[in-house]
Amino acid sequence: MAVAIVLAGGSGKRMNTDVAKQFLKINGKEVLYYSLRVFENNENITDIVLVTREEDIEYCKKNIIDEYGFNKVSNIVCGGKERYDSVYNGLQVISTYPEGKRQVVLIHDGARPFITDIMINESVKKIQSGCQACTIAVPAKDTIKKVENIDGKILGIETPDRKFLYQIQTPQTFEFNLIMSSYEKMLKDHNHNITDDTMLVEQYSGVYSEIIEGTYENIKITTSEDLEIGEIFAKKSF
Ligand code: C5P
Repeated sequence: MAVAIVLAGGSGKRMNTDVAKQFLKINGKEVLYYSLRVFENNENITDIVLVTREEDIEYCKKNIIDEYGFNKVSNIVCGGKERYDSVYNGLQVISTYPEGKRQVVLIHDGARPFITDIMINESVKKIQSGCQACTIAVPAKDTIKKVENIDGKILGIETPDRKFLYQIQTPQTFEFNLIMSSYEKMLKDHNHNITDDTMLVEQYSGVYSEIIEGTYENIKITTSEDLEIGEIFAKKSF
């Protein structure tokens, strides 16, 4: 048994569109529809907390939740300025759930439409068997460089060994008490640069996340070419 926070509170900045990426359409259906559908139909998920911008709440209710009959969406919460603000708003709602219901929390980017039941089930199983934090990830295919801007030139200054590099995806899954207490510590620290939740529990609670190997199809729709790739994946099996 687990609850999911699905994040749809971003804007279309990197996509250069007025419509936020999670509401763009892939084969006629919103990007967000695909990920919500997997959580809705998954036997381990009891509740979904959907986080979105205030101006998108009505749209989500009418065009996504009612339209597709997503009954497990028990709360729609207003998002925040940064991704971590949106997550925290979702966590606050979950903190009002009965303790027995909220022990395992999955956090997922609504802009990643191609998650699978296996990813959800493996993640829930890990936490139920005593792991505190885990994430879906794939081995890096490319060589990754650390760069620095030196005298106006971007220079590759270090090349970490690729066999130690993974690209981190979502869902990321946590014991509720761990993720909540990590957020509370982070919010007291005004000098941070948090881009995901595994990084947050690492930095504020010293807990390393276990990696569960995902798929290269589990892309985040970020730029316009991702939509074209998404159309191909969606036709395949999603
Ligand atoms: O912008 P980024 O690629 O990090 O967004 C990842 C996910 O987080 C997206 O699904 C986006 O809608 C969500 N997000 C959010 N609130 C924000 C920023 C992003 O819910 N303030």
